[in-house]
Amino acid sequence: MTTIGHRIGEILATLPEGVRLTAVSKFHPVEALREAYDAGQRIFGESRVQELMTKIPAMPDDVCWHFIGHLQTNKVRQLLSTRRIAMIESVDSERLLRAIDSESARLGITTRVLLQVHVALEETKFGFLPDELCAFFDDRGYESLQATHICGIMAMASNTDDTARISADFATAAELKARIAAEHPDLRGFDTLSMGMSHDYLLAIARGANLVRIGSGIFGERQY
Ligand SMILES: *Cc1c(COP(=O)(O)O)cnc(C)c1O
Repeated sequence: MTTIGHRIGEILATLPEGVRLTAVSKFHPVEALREAYDAGQRIFGESRVQELMTKIPAMPDDVCWHFIGHLQTNKVRQLLSTRRIAMIESVDSERLLRAIDSESARLGITTRVLLQVHVALEETKFGFLPDELCAFFDDRGYESLQATHICGIMAMASNTDDTARISADFATAAELKARIAAEHPDLRGFDTLSMGMSHDYLLAIARGANLVRIGSGIFGERQY
């Protein structure tokens, strides 16, 4: 077993049933992804369109590619033209959501997305503010989507060592998702809560995450 395969096994052993793993492979070479694949990993997370364009053809067809980075509207067409994106976890504005929807409709595909909510302290993190997110659902903004399936919520916690703060951020995201699901029972398959990275995924799971995004804990430090 390779180091990468071994680390995946150790992480999987800590995940409760029903929690899935996105292996965040951004900035790592295809050889590293191969090792993860050979250890049974199928969901890979990438944050840059160009990098994904070179990795998709280099990996087997049963890989589920998740886009997890900030996606510029002008890159939506290129990303979706691959027809290989299993999920965009990082839809951070309604404008981006609408662009994904119209491009998906044009291609005749349905794109699965998560809406990213901004719950962290930093002003720089992307995402819907909690009030914006609620307003989007209360205005039933999802009803006019033709080719996009909103599968849930994605969040990142504050970049801090303060575990109480991190837990509070995850709790905020979990409460938002629960509230939206309760108030909009017509939303189908709104069941994914993606939160938690290498250093905080256990806190995220404690708050109800059922998809975690782990990079350095699997592949080691990134070489930028
Ligand atoms: C890079 C990244 C991760 C993985 O972070 P690690 O600390 O390496 O586990 C998770 N989520 C998002 C959105 C990222 O950009």
